[in-house]
Amino acid sequence: MLTLPKTEIPIQKIKSGDVEIFLKREDLIHPDISGNKYWKLFYNVNHYLNQKVEKPFIITFGGAFSNHIATVAAFGKIFSIPTMGIIRGEELEARFLENITLRKAHENGMSFRFVSRTDYRDKGAITEKLRKEFPEALIVPEGGSNPQAVEGVKFMLTEHTKDFDYLCTAVGTGGSIAGISKYAEGNQKVIGFTVVRDVSLEQRIRELSTKNNFSLIEADYGGYGKISDEIVRFINDFWKQYNIPLDPVYTGKMMMRLFQLVEEGFFPAGSRILAFHTGGLQGIEGANQLLRNKNRNTIEIRL
Ligand SMILES: *Cc1c(COP(=O)(O)O)cnc(C)c1O
Repeated sequence: MLTLPKTEIPIQKIKSGDVEIFLKREDLIHPDISGNKYWKLFYNVNHYLNQKVEKPFIITFGGAFSNHIATVAAFGKIFSIPTMGIIRGEELEARFLENITLRKAHENGMSFRFVSRTDYRDKGAITEKLRKEFPEALIVPEGGSNPQAVEGVKFMLTEHTKDFDYLCTAVGTGGSIAGISKYAEGNQKVIGFTVVRDVSLEQRIRELSTKNNFSLIEADYGGYGKISDEIVRFINDFWKQYNIPLDPVYTGKMMMRLFQLVEEGFFPAGSRILAFHTGGLQGIEGANQLLRNKNRNTIEIRL
């Protein structure tokens, strides 16, 4: 079972002045099941384990560098529950041990099925087949975004998040921003920094959130998982200045775009902004492996 943290998740001040920026360190919840993934799994796995199925088994979906795959595998290891990852990309099967995320997930006991990118798009069909094959299994959607995930995200909001004007988060599949939007105070504006181009995203968030208090701003900087030299530099500078690690896929892009917006005068003077550090730090090692192979500058963070 996942439990509520015993201590408050820290909120750290990053920037003073006309506009103040704070960062809530959701990445500190747990060393291996961290950030928003902890909260998105919270009700999903707890409801499932409460049903006391005889042989629990958790199946989920993801790409080669997926934080969600990493956290589900870690969860399985910690709670001794077998897990399986449906992985996008058949070509990975032969050499998945070279991929740090998949290798660690494998070491944590996760089994894999690799599917072609075309088949992967039809997750409904895959899910239906899996349900027949494993009737007792918990099947968690890609990124863990479903209504139970949205409910879990309410724990990211506390007494201490109420007196901020803006709540910011990085957006992938949209479950996290949906939860923040749903449980924000009436006067709070929610901004999602999208790292993937997906025209159906806004509609999906609206359905999960049921509220209209959010807006989306692009922060993809060349595409999902693309790591520019600019992002690497920003993350390294941020680490030097604040001693806070950011990941290159989500939180680094969010903070870089957020700083740009402040520079551009997007926020009225006096605004108090809270950004959620949603974790994802397991991705740094894999990113550095790719960068090293291309002789590019790496992320200089040792965790
Ligand atoms: C998965 C993830 C997100 C995106 O969350 P969604 O609920 O899929 O939008 C943001 N940040 C990090 C670090 C993540 O791992």
